[in-house]
Amino acid sequence: MHLHGTSEINKSGQLTIGGVSTIDLVNQYGTPLYVYDVALIRERARGFKQTFQDLGVKSEVAYASKAFSSIAIFRLMKEEGLSLDVVSGGELYTALKAGFPSERIHFNGNNKSLEELNMAVRNKIGCVVVDNFHELQLLNEITCEMKQKINVLLRVTPGIEAHTHDYILTGQEDSKFGFDLQNGQAEDAMKQALKAEYIELLGLHCHIGSQIFETTGFILAAKKIIGKVAAWKSSYGFLPKVINLGGGFGIRYTREDDPIPPSQYVKEMIQAVREETEKLGLDMPEIWIEPGRSLVGDAGTTLYTVGSSKEVPGTRKYVAVDGGMNDNIRPALYGAKYEAVIANKADELPKEKVSVAGKCCESGDMLMWDVLLQSADPGDTLAMFCTGAYGYSMANNYNRIPRPPVVFVENGQSTLAVRRETYEDLISLDQ
Ligand SMILES: *Cc1c(COP(=O)(O)O)cnc(C)c1O
Repeated sequence: MHLHGTSEINKSGQLTIGGVSTIDLVNQYGTPLYVYDVALIRERARGFKQTFQDLGVKSEVAYASKAFSSIAIFRLMKEEGLSLDVVSGGELYTALKAGFPSERIHFNGNNKSLEELNMAVRNKIGCVVVDNFHELQLLNEITCEMKQKINVLLRVTPGIEAHTHDYILTGQEDSKFGFDLQNGQAEDAMKQALKAEYIELLGLHCHIGSQIFETTGFILAAKKIIGKVAAWKSSYGFLPKVINLGGGFGIRYTREDDPIPPSQYVKEMIQAVREETEKLGLDMPEIWIEPGRSLVGDAGTTLYTVGSSKEVPGTRKYVAVDGGMNDNIRPALYGAKYEAVIANKADELPKEKVSVAGKCCESGDMLMWDVLLQSADPGDTLAMFCTGAYGYSMANNYNRIPRPPVVFVENGQSTLAVRRETYEDLISLDQ
């Protein structure tokens, strides 16, 4: 069993996180329950920042808030001096309510509404990552009307598709995001942005994918962008101050995953940009990144209570827990794999291969197939690791199941970050 962050097994054989017994957490807050290891999030955040500092590169590390959005996590990222990447009015609203400095908020997304762009300009956020010509036009109109400047990055698609383990160079990238770097769209967008009176074009942005285990794709993307930048500089005199290379750094969900350390991605990206800019006689730009999963993913653990089970003789044993696709849709959505332990028997050896089912009326509502676990009896606590990214943020009320609470643990203390939804909450919008 692989323990993440501050997780340990105490003398009673219970899994602890942040110095708190998971069984005590279950008794206090109930299940299902999301638990975040705050020390591990801080370590990851500091690791990214430190790497840039050590290499003497100006940077912004923006937490991709879609991985897990809430006031508590935004406050933690503010404490750690990170910036924030939001992709909707709702995330922006939450960030502002959390007191996140608006000048460190970046707004991504391929179809921002007029209202969302207005909200961004009105609140003087750090930058809008403009995705398409429609948005560029809207933003020009809004800023001219308000007579207020806004910083902009242009999202470009460098023609690299990241397929988790390998990369395909495509002539013309088929993506709903961004301006194509090869076919002239990005260049047109750059010219339009430079012409717009209240738009301050800071630079370029790209995001090549998610749960990526190698640096090749980032390096290829950086090189392609720098190549274009050099051409644009000689034709138009425009030199970007910032290059944002996005997020997507992979984490270890199961023993099959073998990620490189987060700082390694940053080191190799910087090295590639340095080499390329030096070769072409350009100044080193600021390098911005937007990690989501790699900041919060392995810091999250979900606790469930084991309920019923069903034996299919000769095939498999299903063990059902009190959550499922409501609180973690990734297995159903992407076939995502996880590891787990029976938290009250964490010192015992796993002895049974089971498949862990959720409680929704969907055959696809499975959390794990064929995992080795300690004997799972009704009332036991199942701890599923690495659920910190895209768990709570994708949670839903299918079957009218209330969403679980979120608890932060650190130094032997637990704090409620998001309370459990109630049945009253569920009907609160019904007229
Ligand atoms: C999803 C996303 C990220 C973060 O991806 P992770 O895999 O969670 O690191 C960053 N930037 C953009 C534009 C994204 O869409």
